[in-house]
Amino acid sequence: MKITVSAIKADIGGIGGHTRPSDELVQTVRDFVNKNGKGILIDNYVGYTGDDIHIIMTHTLGVENEQIHKLAWDAFTEGTTVAKEQGLYGAGQDLLKDSFSGNVKGMGPGVAEIEMDERPSEVFCVFAADKTEPGAYNFPFWRMFVDTGSNTGLIINEELAHGVIFRIMDVMTGKIADLKLWNEKPELEAALMYPGRYVVHSILSHQGEQIVSCSTDRLHNIAGTYVGKDDPIAIVRTQKNFPATEEAGSAFNDPHIVAGNTRGSHHMPFMPVALNSPASLNYSIPIVSCLLFSMHNGKLTGPHDGFGTADWDYQRRLASERAMVLRVQGFIHPATLVPDELEYNKGYETRMSKLNDKFK
Ligand SMILES: [Mg+2]
Repeated sequence: MKITVSAIKADIGGIGGHTRPSDELVQTVRDFVNKNGKGILIDNYVGYTGDDIHIIMTHTLGVENEQIHKLAWDAFTEGTTVAKEQGLYGAGQDLLKDSFSGNVKGMGPGVAEIEMDERPSEVFCVFAADKTEPGAYNFPFWRMFVDTGSNTGLIINEELAHGVIFRIMDVMTGKIADLKLWNEKPELEAALMYPGRYVVHSILSHQGEQIVSCSTDRLHNIAGTYVGKDDPIAIVRTQKNFPATEEAGSAFNDPHIVAGNTRGSHHMPFMPVALNSPASLNYSIPIVSCLLFSMHNGKLTGPHDGFGTADWDYQRRLASERAMVLRVQGFIHPATLVPDELEYNKGYETRMSKLNDKFK
């Protein structure tokens, strides 16, 4: 039996700013999915990372299924009613269209989905991020699948040693390129080098089995213009022929610098956090949580909190220290993003047009 895991997320309102959804908002989305998912879903889980609510669903309807996407869309719409009643900040902000039309892609919410032949002990992680962009996963995915210094499994696991296939999206054109390890490693690395332009869309085993899916949908559908940041969600299958769960998790143990943060205009380190953590008021340090599930016949056990153990406090400390290294230089690049990525910000354009009038 083929099982599909669908992870769909949206920001539909936060308490006092872009922090976290209210308990009532999360409960409303949860209740809606439980009630209306009967007969469609096998199982589901609802939680949040920063101001983004994620709905993890299992079913047999395949990827990009209208019923599944509509269920998530309607749950977010129902949640938005509560967000508006409570006056939450940015109520319904990720629901970019007025009505549902077949698929949430391009409508605001982010989607990661994998249809799979369920293994006897199926295991997967969901990495849910806030205050950053899909390219934030370029470095950890490189560490997981390319860097033997980070992952010994790439040497001693026969399947991983064959090399995987990275599917990379050019966010300006919406086009996809397949790059096969190990022959195309330099071209893959040339793409991963600029996370604002090229992002990991999915990763397949050398035999074509899907290991990773990452949300890039909105970028794809509005390709050609810079659309700002889109907090990404990714599914990573682990164990057996795939990276060990610890090899996947530890790819996040050296908080690297990513784009996003306050006003989506800065660079800061990517901090691993516990499940259902709010965004930080320290200039919105980008955050990522790890939901770890076991699955059998589509029934979920978990999530176990992947970054919740005591040792990850050290990574949070590292991220906080690196955040201050950047914040002390305020608005001076590279604390801020390059002009191309700032340009969706109308205020910056106004400043630059007044400045350009002064140049004689
Ligand atoms: Mg967000």
